[in-house]
Amino acid sequence: MVQPASHPVTGARPVAAGPRSLYDLEAADLARLMDEAGEPSYRARQLARWLDRRKVADLEAMTDLPAGFRARLLERFTGVGLTLERHQVGDGGWTHKFLFGLPGGDSVESVLMLYPPAEDGLLPGRQGRATLCISTQAGCAMGCTFCATGQFGFTRNLSTGEVVEQVARVWALLEELRPAPAAPGHLTNVVFMGMGEPFANPDATWGAAWRLHNGFGLSARAITISTVGLVPGIRRAAREPLAVNLAVSVHAATDELRDRLVPLNRTWPIADLVAAVREYVAARRRRVSFEYALIRGVNDGPEQADSLGRLLAPLRVPGSGGHAAHVNLIPYNPTPGLGFETPSRSAVHRFRDTVAAHGLPVSVRANRGVGIDAACGQLRTVAGRPGRGAGPPLTSRAGEEVAR
Ligand code: SAH
Ligand code: SF4
Repeated sequence: MVQPASHPVTGARPVAAGPRSLYDLEAADLARLMDEAGEPSYRARQLARWLDRRKVADLEAMTDLPAGFRARLLERFTGVGLTLERHQVGDGGWTHKFLFGLPGGDSVESVLMLYPPAEDGLLPGRQGRATLCISTQAGCAMGCTFCATGQFGFTRNLSTGEVVEQVARVWALLEELRPAPAAPGHLTNVVFMGMGEPFANPDATWGAAWRLHNGFGLSARAITISTVGLVPGIRRAAREPLAVNLAVSVHAATDELRDRLVPLNRTWPIADLVAAVREYVAARRRRVSFEYALIRGVNDGPEQADSLGRLLAPLRVPGSGGHAAHVNLIPYNPTPGLGFETPSRSAVHRFRDTVAAHGLPVSVRANRGVGIDAACGQLRTVAGRPGRGAGPPLTSRAGEEVAR
C-alpha cells in the first residue's frame, strides 16, 4: 500500500504526518494506488493530468473519476498540501510574492516575475516571460552572512510534492494575475532560487525538476537550479539526464573573501568549485551562470572584478571554445540588521566593465520585488522566526496585500 509517511520514489525525508497532498504522489505511487483500489491503470494518467497539466487538485472537480473512488481518496489525501497565507503585489502587478504555509506550521515563499515581450527582446506580438522563483527548504543551513534566509536558520527540507505544488498553485492563478494581456497566461520558466540550497535537498530538487519537465511540460532549458557551490551537487548535475541550467553563486574570487561571505567555502574552496564546474561544462557543453551579489565596500572593487575575470575567463566550452561562464551581477538587496549595503550605480557599471574587459559575457540583474521584500535573497517569511508562518503580518510600503 502507499505509505503516507514515506516517499518511495524520491527518497525525500518524511516531512509531515497525517493526510498527504496529492502532489506528493509520483507516477509510480499513482500506479500503485490504482492497483490497490482495483481501478484500471489509465485512471493514474487521468489523475496526473488533473494535477500536472490542469493544475487542479480538487477531487470534487475531477468528474471523470468515479465518485466512490474519489471519496476513498479524500479519506487519505488532502487536495493541496500548501496553504496560501499571503499574496503581495509589487512593481505595478508585474511581481507577486506568495507565502505558503506547510503542514506542521512552517512556511516558504515563492516569487513570480512577469515580463512583457519588449523587455524580453522577443518579437512584437509574442508573449513575454513568466518566471517563478521557488523554495526547496524552509530556511537554509548554509549561513551566508549577507543572506536573509541564511541568517534566519534552517527549519526543514521540502518534499518533492511541496516544491512542485508551488509551481502548480501559482500557474493556476496566472490568468487572473496578469497585469496586461502582454503577460503570459502560463509559466515559461522556473528558477530554484528561493529559500534554501537546492543541492542540500537533492532528491526533492531533482524529483521536482523531473516532474516539471515530464508532468508540467517545461523544457529542461526553462528550468534553472542555483547552488551556493555544493560540489557533489554540481557533479550530480553533470550526470543527471535532465540538462537544466546551472547557476553558481560565487560572490568572491578569492578564498579569503569568500570564506567570510559563504561559510561553505571552507569545505569546498574556489579551486574545487571551479574544478566541478569545469567537469560540468565538459559533460554538458553548456554555459554556467555565475551569480555575484555586489556589496558596497566588500566585493565591489575593481581589483575584485579583475580577479573574477581572471578566475572565470579560462573556463571554455569544449569544441566551440566560447566562454563557459556568464557573470550575472546582482546589486545587493539590503536586509535590515545585516550591515551590508548596495553599491552605487557607478561602482556597478565599473565592476561590469572590468569583468567584461576579460571577454566574459556580463549582465546586471534588474531589481524586482524590492518593495515587497521579494527581491533576491530577501526571502525569510516572518522577521525573526525562521520558516514559521505565524506572527505579525508583513507590511510593505510599495506592496499591496491582497490575500491572507
Ligand atoms: N541557495 C541558493 C539559491 C537561493 S539564493 C544559492 O545561494 O545559490 C538565490 C541568489 O540570491 C543567490 O545567488 C544568493 O547568493 C543571492 N542573494 C542572497 N541574498 C541576497 C541579497 N540580499 N541581495 C542580492 N542577492 C542575494
Ligand atoms: Fe542559503 Fe543561498 Fe542564502 Fe546562502 S545565499 S544562505 S545558500 S539561500
